[in-house]
Amino acid sequence: MTKAGLRVLVTNDDGIHAPALELLAREAERRLGPVTVIAPDRERSGVAHGLTIRQPLRAIEVGAARWAVEGTPTDCVNLAFLGLLDEPPQLVLSGINGGYNLGEDLTYSGTVAAAMEGRLFGVPSVAVSCAVGADHRALERAAAITCRLAEEVLDEEIPSDLFLNVNVPPEPCGLRVTRQGRRRCRQGLIRRQDPKGQEIFWLTLAGASWAEDPRADHHAVAEGMVSVTPLHADLTFRGALEQLAGWEGELELLG
Ligand code: MN
Repeated sequence: MTKAGLRVLVTNDDGIHAPALELLAREAERRLGPVTVIAPDRERSGVAHGLTIRQPLRAIEVGAARWAVEGTPTDCVNLAFLGLLDEPPQLVLSGINGGYNLGEDLTYSGTVAAAMEGRLFGVPSVAVSCAVGADHRALERAAAITCRLAEEVLDEEIPSDLFLNVNVPPEPCGLRVTRQGRRRCRQGLIRRQDPKGQEIFWLTLAGASWAEDPRADHHAVAEGMVSVTPLHADLTFRGALEQLAGWEGELELLG
């Protein structure tokens, strides 16, 4: 596939006003081709692969090739492919998220889900995240790395259902291809009363305690390496297929 003039969709889950979104869009425009930004009109972190199907979607044109959507990142990708644009994108970039997307966090991430949706629409897709509060220089470097990796996934030899989850630490000293890590602890819960005396709950982010795995995404980032995790949308646990195959003949399992 020729890279010059590639139609690129840039989206995120931090919303249309996140500065890192525009930074990634500009870098992609410079290196890959004409960019359209379609992003949620507000922060939608944690919405995962949510799709809005019970209410209408409004897309407001907020600038040249810039759209704000009252919906999720996955909604934004759908609009791009299903008719908002004259021609569908040929590449989807999602980010740069403010905060790493590592381990099981991928399953909550709107950033990663937007890249998954791009892949489900049949085009190469990359999700990218940096540390919370990453400075301009770190974000610029992450944008450049993302565009470089996007060129790699445009290679026709790359499996057609693969998309990338990329995490870029502030001063990367190398790049490692990783697998999704596992947390040891889950979210915490804060319990309070609101000013009217009603009990309220607040989920807090999990602590950074990880199961030891030198090939995991979190391990690479902790060592200052860019983490590149190949993902696909197929959730099948292939390792269990053989073990469970014996159930097929067991009619008592059907009650
Ligand atoms: Mn986010």
